[in-house]
Amino acid sequence: MLRFAPSPTGDMHIGDLRTALFNYIVSKQRNEDFIVRIEDIEKEKNVEGKDEEILALLSLFGIEYSQVIYQSENVRFHSAMALQLIHDKKAFSCFCSHEWLEKKREEAKENKKAYSYDDACRNLPDELVLDNMNPFTIRLSRPDKAIVINDLIKGEVSFEPDAVDSFIIMDQDKTPTYNFACAVDDMLSDISLVIRSQEHMSDTPKQDHVRTSLGYEKKVEYAHLPIILNDTFSVKWLLEEGFLPAAISNYLISIANETPQEIFDVKDAIEWFSLEKISKSPARFSIELLREINKKHLKNMDATELSRYVGFADANIGELAKVYLEEASTTKELKSKIEAIFAAKEIPEEFTEVAQIMAKTIKNAPYFQEYDDFKKYIMKESTLKDENFSKALHFLLTGAGNGPDIALVYKYLKNYIREIIK
Ligand code: GLU
Repeated sequence: MLRFAPSPTGDMHIGDLRTALFNYIVSKQRNEDFIVRIEDIEKEKNVEGKDEEILALLSLFGIEYSQVIYQSENVRFHSAMALQLIHDKKAFSCFCSHEWLEKKREEAKENKKAYSYDDACRNLPDELVLDNMNPFTIRLSRPDKAIVINDLIKGEVSFEPDAVDSFIIMDQDKTPTYNFACAVDDMLSDISLVIRSQEHMSDTPKQDHVRTSLGYEKKVEYAHLPIILNDTFSVKWLLEEGFLPAAISNYLISIANETPQEIFDVKDAIEWFSLEKISKSPARFSIELLREINKKHLKNMDATELSRYVGFADANIGELAKVYLEEASTTKELKSKIEAIFAAKEIPEEFTEVAQIMAKTIKNAPYFQEYDDFKKYIMKESTLKDENFSKALHFLLTGAGNGPDIALVYKYLKNYIREIIK
């Protein structure tokens, strides 16, 4: 079983979507289930509605999951596991106050030493624990030896006991901490491989240690993805800007990766994707590259489908939109080009006179299949000849003085002339 474990604390960013995609793809390759776990136990950080938004985005990107688990609903299991660890003397109650621990942290900083908990409460006699009325946290006793993680991307990474420390698994209010909840949940869901951002690398030995301490023998595999620099874009924003889900997925799979072709869909990627090919170093997000990929997806799209993105259901308009890919890369940009064609035109003064005569002629013109016949007719009937002719026609038909070849534009617009020249 693989999982995507977003925190519903803000907008889904491209890095999160990449993580979801990779988990989904590998689950398909391995023929294992894929689930979503909403990591919502830090209640004060949750933003209402973000869980639903994340799930809706996953569906939009075709990332199907077999189950959604809310971490907050697992708290009774987290408590039961903490109790087992206390019972097995692998976890202990810690009465050190926040202020005290902060003081120790400051001291370590002043002495230029890495802070680690001094295990002051680790061996308190049971009577002292029972007599102590102060609030307490639960800590998991630190490991005795280094923990080695065999990361599918980073290779072998070793963590000394100090890097794990006797860390807190239950806060004073007895809510589970992130690492504890995450480790237990991965165990409960029988997760085989965790693919996640490199930012979580330092959490991994802690989570591994939780499960080992609980006597869980199965080793969860890990693959930590290099971070994406410049990950300032939310998925929602990219969609609003007119990037296609297929193009966004294509680009995110390509970042810092070797792919057999430039343009592909997620189904293709399931055939050849390999975590081993992901680069170990950070990748940079480039909106320019995404624009190029988006353009190619738009070019390959069925013309009627493309026309829907710009407010029509007509293959001719879809083909026209493709002509505009010369100067536009997103559906939003294409929409504004097509809208300008059907909108009332603002024609610069130097062309108004010619345009007025031309418009009148066009309104009375019969239907012409070919642009050349159309042009000849307008020229003959209006007696317009001068060099402003083609500029004015361009303005009348498209709302802009330049742009794609007008004969090509006419080819796709000829059935709409009456609506365009009003
Ligand atoms: N909830 C964490 C996050 O959104 C992910 C934790 C994990 O994948 O293990 O960054």
